[in-house]
Amino acid sequence: MQRIALVTGGTRGIGAAIARRLADSGYQVAAVYHGNEAAATAFQSETGIRIYRWDVADYEACAAGVAAVTRDLGGTVDILVNNAGITRDTMLHKMSPQQWNEVIASDLGSCFNMCRAVIGPMREKGFGRIVGISSVNGQRGQLGQTNYAAAKAGMLGFTKALALESAAKGITVNAVAPGYIATDMVAAVPDEVLKKIVAQIPVGRLGQPEEVARLVRFLVGDEAGYITGATFSANGGQYMA
Ligand code: NDP
Repeated sequence: MQRIALVTGGTRGIGAAIARRLADSGYQVAAVYHGNEAAATAFQSETGIRIYRWDVADYEACAAGVAAVTRDLGGTVDILVNNAGITRDTMLHKMSPQQWNEVIASDLGSCFNMCRAVIGPMREKGFGRIVGISSVNGQRGQLGQTNYAAAKAGMLGFTKALALESAAKGITVNAVAPGYIATDMVAAVPDEVLKKIVAQIPVGRLGQPEEVARLVRFLVGDEAGYITGATFSANGGQYMA
């Protein structure tokens, strides 16, 4: 039977590369997006991958969305990739409560919301794969990103705790911490800042979304059952945790 994979933020950037890679590997894939309808419909017509629109920061929306995916794809979610994320960068002394709350809700609260919606059936089935896309900046911190670094570091603790809770049930929970990857999120970084960032990457370039997707593909496979509670860096040697 084809396994069912759900990728949040699966219509653009890293998530889109993950969704494509999993579909190419024979999984039934559902890709979740939030507001960029044009990008999502272009992705769907190009790939044939099913798309769903909901806000991963909203607990009820996640429960309803997962129920819709389960109904449409004819089975419960076997693989969850918590990839959706946003930035609202600014120094703490200028950060508004809204900038703080939005990032914590979208990048960390979403992990609770989505895992809560899929974990029951995974436990009953005795199989599951959960991968969270964290960040190098959650591992080491970054100027202007107290909100984002806190959320992404929070994902790492969440991953370890849920891995412990789930290990005896055939469910693995891991995190991937990418460095700077060429997506819209990084395109938003001012040119002069980006040049300085690239100069500090030992491999001398940004990463490609597909370079993260291949790692995720390995982690969600049946063959990766002994790997859980781990964080994998994909950052061009930028930070060695
Ligand atoms: P993009 O901004 O290119 O794409 C983000 C995706 O997430 C979009 O599909 C977007 O939907 C979706 N999304 C955002 N918020 C929500 C929400 N509340 N509910 C549902 N979907 C949502 O991001 P990247 O591909 O660059 O990043 C993907 C992940 O990787 C993020 O978690 C990011 O923090 C992390 N990361 C990225 C790095 C990079 O250098 N790019 C480095 C390290 C980590 P829509 O299209 O509708 O807006």
